[in-house]
Amino acid sequence: MAGSECVFPAVGRTTMTALIDLLRNRLATLLPGELKTRELRHLLTPKDHPLLLCQRRAMMIVDRVRLFAFLFAVLTPLWSLIDLMVFDMPLWLWLAGFRLAACLAFTALLVFYRPSGNLFDAYRAIAILFAIPTVFYIASHTLLGTYQLAQFSAVVGAGYAFLPFVLMAGLTIFPLTLAESLVLGVVLLLAQALAGYLSWATLNWPSFAGAFWLLILICGVATLAGMSQLAFMVALVRQAIRDPLTGIFSRGSGEEILRLQWDSARRSDGPLALAFIDLDHFKAINDQHGHEAGDAVLREAARAMLGSLRGSDSLVRWGGEEFLLIMPDTDLAQAQLALARVLRNGLGVRPEGCPLTASIGLAERRDDGVADMRELLELADRRMYEAKGAGRNCLQAGQRPAEEQDSGLAQAEYVA
Ligand code: GH3
Ligand code: MG
Ligand code: MG
Repeated sequence: MAGSECVFPAVGRTTMTALIDLLRNRLATLLPGELKTRELRHLLTPKDHPLLLCQRRAMMIVDRVRLFAFLFAVLTPLWSLIDLMVFDMPLWLWLAGFRLAACLAFTALLVFYRPSGNLFDAYRAIAILFAIPTVFYIASHTLLGTYQLAQFSAVVGAGYAFLPFVLMAGLTIFPLTLAESLVLGVVLLLAQALAGYLSWATLNWPSFAGAFWLLILICGVATLAGMSQLAFMVALVRQAIRDPLTGIFSRGSGEEILRLQWDSARRSDGPLALAFIDLDHFKAINDQHGHEAGDAVLREAARAMLGSLRGSDSLVRWGGEEFLLIMPDTDLAQAQLALARVLRNGLGVRPEGCPLTASIGLAERRDDGVADMRELLELADRRMYEAKGAGRNCLQAGQRPAEEQDSGLAQAEYVA
């Protein structure tokens, strides 16, 4: 008896654990498979989105807003023909006026709004896109509420009440995070509640509550649709901007990041440091140990550098065995310290067992008094060649700030 008392809870616990494991595994398969685990948080909020993802997403959102605006600019006035068949004159004229105003607003959005790559511009575009029909909806709903409509015109009048559903469903075309979809969804729900409040006296409560519940369901579906679009986008952007061998940024995306960081540094007159890092005698590795061994050394060097950098720094594979390190908000002295840390931690080892070394050229926007992005790149590149000329395995920077003169970092011979 005592034995069974011991066994059953144990069996129960094992079954329970197995069930929980099964449930957890099944639930895990619901997560978008195209994403890496660390990317899943990108679906929740836009807070830690990589720079290029932000930029591509902002462009895509504005493009889709303009598409939506085009569709509505055409469809909104067309509906006046149907209104004409069922509504009498003063009401039709009012509605046609509202429709014309909405059509002009959509057209202005289509013509004047251009994708800038800025996320706040994209949010504003969505806000304007949704504000136009919301104002139209509230105005027309209020107006129709004041008329006693005959049977057929009542059916068309009721059609106006579908507008919030169309807007909520319209959310599905945007690649949005959970937080963004919820904010937009709640705003639409509040607009619906406001319309209900304004027609309080004539409101049919059961049908209003049913419509509200349906709107909440559509909000849920639209949120899922937005998040799955975003998941695809995160995966596609990752594949497009990363170098397949090392997983760091490829040259094309590196140029884009540099341009964005340059513009931002110039706007705020902040520092921006750039380092060219070229591995020393790399060809010898290929020649003596084969291309595969060379690839493995490249991968390890990128991994080692990434491990020593800040999250805001961007490491780019600029060419074969040449890397570009972009350090925003970093002046010359700070960049030298960061590079000293990278070098202290090492770049990995060559196949024959000696430490892998690199020659580094460093330049900084403000300390070097550079006026143009190309000039900054060329300066860092030239200094990298100077470092090669100075015997390799060293860092070549420009004029050092006075307090750094004794630290020996500006042209630091380092022992990897
Ligand atoms: P230095 O110290 O002057 O920089 O000499 P180096 O041998 O590093 O430079 P060099 O420009 O002579 O040779 C670069 C070599 O990098 C030649 C090329 O075969 C190799 N390389 C370029 N891309 C790759 C790659 O993706 N994989 C491998 N394994 N090798 C690569
Ligand atoms: Mg080299
Ligand atoms: Mg080279």
